[in-house]
Amino acid sequence: MSIRDEIKTVLISEEQIRERCRELGKQVTKDYSEQNATPLVVALLRGSVPFMSELIKYIDLDIQYDFMDVTSYSGTKSTGDIRIVKDLETSGEGKDILIVEDIVDTGRTINAVVGMMKNKGANSVKVITLLDKPSRRVVDVDVDYIGFEVDDIFVVGYGLDYNQRFRALPFVGVPKEEVYR
Ligand code: 5GP
Repeated sequence: MSIRDEIKTVLISEEQIRERCRELGKQVTKDYSEQNATPLVVALLRGSVPFMSELIKYIDLDIQYDFMDVTSYSGTKSTGDIRIVKDLETSGEGKDILIVEDIVDTGRTINAVVGMMKNKGANSVKVITLLDKPSRRVVDVDVDYIGFEVDDIFVVGYGLDYNQRFRALPFVGVPKEEVYR
């Protein structure tokens, strides 16, 4: 049985994601060029890796990228206390940081990470996310670039996991109910 057989619906196809990354990359290129800036792209592990890898192909600037891993203190996603598991190797001082996220849900993770980047002395901090679930927001965050809006449903693929599974799927989909049993 293929891992794809455990998916009920494909919400966003590989082609749609590639096309959207192309558009977003163009927009990012334009925006930063106008500011005479080159972003330090910061991908949040592990979910944003496939999105970041596709996106940077279309950013026509001499960018650098780095990774950061954060987790919530309680182990659940529902608290606001975010702890750094792996920090940047690069100094954030004076940088124009573009944080890459897989999905913005309550907004707590991104809110905390934006604060951390500002504390590092970044010149500017922007956020780009593959998916946005605005209906779930509890913290007001500015998301500068959004790939796709999704309803309040649990999705996997293209970096997003369920118990570390499904991350490598090249599309975003909804798992079948039996996956949760
Ligand atoms: P926030 O702090 O915005 O509530 O949490 C964002 C994180 O929650 C994402 O990086 C992701 O790990 C997780 N998350 C939120 N919604 C989903 C979803 O539909 N599917 C998966 N796989 N993870 C989700």
